[in-house]
Amino acid sequence: MVQIASVFSMRHFFVLSLALNVSFILRSVFEREQGLNWFGFESEKDQVTQRTRLSVSSSLSSITTLAEAQDCGERIINLDHGDPTMYEKYWQQMGDKTTVVIPGWQYMSYFSDMSNICWFLEPEFAKQVVRLHKVVGNAVTDGRHIVVGTGSSQLYLAALFALSPSDASEPISVVSQAPYYSSYPSMTDCLKSGLYKWAGEAHNFSKEGPYIELVTSPNNPDGTARHSVVNRNKGTLLHDLAYYWPQYTPISSPADHELMLFTVSKSTGHAGMRIGWAIVKDKEVAKRMTKFVELNTIGVSKDSQIRAAKVLKAISDAYEHVDDSEVGETFFDFSYHNMAERWKLLREAVEHSGMFSLPKFPPAFCTFFNQVSEPRPAFAWLKCEKDIEDCETFLRDHKILTRGGKHFGVGPKYVRVSMLDRDENFIRFVKRLSTIRV
Ligand code: PMP
Repeated sequence: MVQIASVFSMRHFFVLSLALNVSFILRSVFEREQGLNWFGFESEKDQVTQRTRLSVSSSLSSITTLAEAQDCGERIINLDHGDPTMYEKYWQQMGDKTTVVIPGWQYMSYFSDMSNICWFLEPEFAKQVVRLHKVVGNAVTDGRHIVVGTGSSQLYLAALFALSPSDASEPISVVSQAPYYSSYPSMTDCLKSGLYKWAGEAHNFSKEGPYIELVTSPNNPDGTARHSVVNRNKGTLLHDLAYYWPQYTPISSPADHELMLFTVSKSTGHAGMRIGWAIVKDKEVAKRMTKFVELNTIGVSKDSQIRAAKVLKAISDAYEHVDDSEVGETFFDFSYHNMAERWKLLREAVEHSGMFSLPKFPPAFCTFFNQVSEPRPAFAWLKCEKDIEDCETFLRDHKILTRGGKHFGVGPKYVRVSMLDRDENFIRFVKRLSTIRV
């Protein structure tokens, strides 16, 4: 009996020791990988406690080739979606500044503020939205109505619902200048609504009568500043300003349109919170948008609104020096430098390869940073040069996943590439792109 027990314990000891060794090796490999200094950052652990800045590595050639050496160009680099994981690093550095703890009994009611048209809008979230727009100077909020949505995607549909005449004999046309955000056509037509219908490229729109024109500025996918192009008297404009933030573009003046959409997905990088907001001039439009969200999801997660409020507050506090504790780098400064460095590296890679081209953006004065700068869009609108006709397929053959021009209403020579992925993936991308030859 004693013998059996000792055999068992020996075996157990061996298995346990093997497991521990393997986990130690894996952990040290992982930690070494985390510490890779792609942009001159410290290890992940140090980032949390130290104030860091994206230290600017001067040229592509100075970047370590370890990423490529590790996967020998075999790893798939997926930059198809605009998933804003680049921002994780910043919020990690902020530690508990934006941690939210919600007791089980809180935020149980459907209702937030019955005195507001948007009765499910959390007052603290509304307050922080207005405050951040004032800090940044990118939108007029005085005398406007705020409608919160489950992402600006829900508000896009709410806006179409609100802007469409309810008694028309046929659906109102929805148009946008190409290249346009690839989700607009499918979101507009997915339910085959009797109220509105996708009518494609705004420049080709010649039908008489009412229409809705979507103006996305800066534009997804090509980063250009946009204005309406149809300009007929029965048109209604819907401004999607998801990227009108100082890390992406110089802020010229507070935007002051009838209906403007914003989202935390691209402003702070919290796409998973699913929070967007609309700034609406017309009371009846705000009421109808609220009705849509009510019919669709009976409001918007309070937990998410509270968390979003905390994130927006942390950004504004740092700029208004409300918080005396060591703030670290401010959010838009961090993101501005990060984007500027990424664009620099991408342009160097494109030049090195000679197979591609990128749009050029005119510099402009930014009232937020108080200086002249070039736009640094969230997506690169990359064109395949030479005789490559299908850029998406060409890059896929190099294991780089992007979204081809046809999804945006233009030809296949163009692709959209996300500039918002994590450092490691982005560096792998520019490194691989720079080596592509015919
Ligand atoms: N509008 C534009 C122009 C976008 O690029 C996106 C996100 N890709 C959205 C709206 C949707 O944002 P949300 O995550 O808030 O639904």
